[in-house]
Amino acid sequence: TIQIIGSLNIDLITRTPRHPNPGETLTATSFTYGPGGKGANQAVACARLSRSKNNQQQQQQQQQQQQAAPPSTSSLSTPNIHIDMIGAVGNDFFGHHLLDELKANGVDTTRVQQTDGEKTGTAVVIVEEDSGENRILITPGANASVVSPPSLFLPSSSSSSSSSSMTSLPDLIILQLEIPLATVVNIIATARESCIDVLLNPAPAVGDLPRDVYKGLKHLIMNETEAGLLMGALGSETAEAEEEKGSPKNAQDICERFHALGVTNVIITLGAKGVYYSFRNEAEGWGEGGHVPAAEVETVVDTTAAGDAFVGAYAVAVVGHGAGVAEAVRWANRVGARTVEKEGAMGAIPWGDEVGGLPVG
Ligand code: ADP
Repeated sequence: TIQIIGSLNIDLITRTPRHPNPGETLTATSFTYGPGGKGANQAVACARLSRSKNNQQQQQQQQQQQQAAPPSTSSLSTPNIHIDMIGAVGNDFFGHHLLDELKANGVDTTRVQQTDGEKTGTAVVIVEEDSGENRILITPGANASVVSPPSLFLPSSSSSSSSSSMTSLPDLIILQLEIPLATVVNIIATARESCIDVLLNPAPAVGDLPRDVYKGLKHLIMNETEAGLLMGALGSETAEAEEEKGSPKNAQDICERFHALGVTNVIITLGAKGVYYSFRNEAEGWGEGGHVPAAEVETVVDTTAAGDAFVGAYAVAVVGHGAGVAEAVRWANRVGARTVEKEGAMGAIPWGDEVGGLPVG
């Protein structure tokens, strides 16, 4: 089981020739809405990348016709791991839409709370067509109500009404920062006590995190902006680090800082420049890693959710295929590249059988 504890949003996207001025009303070029939120995107990435597209669609149809699902015939390259989403949506149209989309993609939504008193989180995105510049307003809504009794991610008791809910501890918990920070900190501490591996994606970028978060953290995956800001909070070397952003020497220095605070595997995604990773040599106490250039892309259509697809792919490689960090990073890098070739968030994320197989397992 991979458990994702995080945000679920509906993205409301308007494209316009230019941003309206204060008090001005403009006619936009187009409007669309769709499921999003980093938690939901990463859950769908985990589900899609650990399944084959055809198998999932067949299972969906059988469930709709209320037939028993046949034994899985998925190939070795799709490990079909249980993907468990924990979060909250409102009891409204957007909330129902999100849950339907997640289920259709193979995510277990049993433990997504639907609360009457809250609205589903939204991201209002205005895209200026000429410049491509985005302006985004997020209303957390129900996401702000995700608080963490320590039992949140522990096995559900035998009285559980759903056969699909968890019966054992997860192999990995994935967290981002679109739910209250106190919840994230609390979950990391409880996971540490229970010896459950955690992958933290500290996005969207924040200025600082309590040091405790890094202690014993297994995987830290962030983009350059997030890495820069967190480093800024960690000490004076940052000004220098910012100047040389992206250079491998500097990336390794940044990784070493996080290793020193207790993180085992540090991964910095570099957009079109690929990714830098470093893993801690437990015996020696130092890090080793390297730069992997971006995979080739025919045309960059939309970079939305590239980071979320990367996180999901990395998690599936580690948990589902038993991959080491180097292999997991390389596969995730290929998945990130496939994602930017398509428009949209979740819909752009490939299925397990649509990306070349992993070089392991
Ligand atoms: P985020 O979306 O979180 O800002 P990045 O922009 O760093 O994250 O992208 C995540 C990953 O997606 C990159 O490490 C890379 O593997 C892939 N990726 C992103 N943009 C491109 C691109 N233009 N070409 C190829 N791969 C890309």
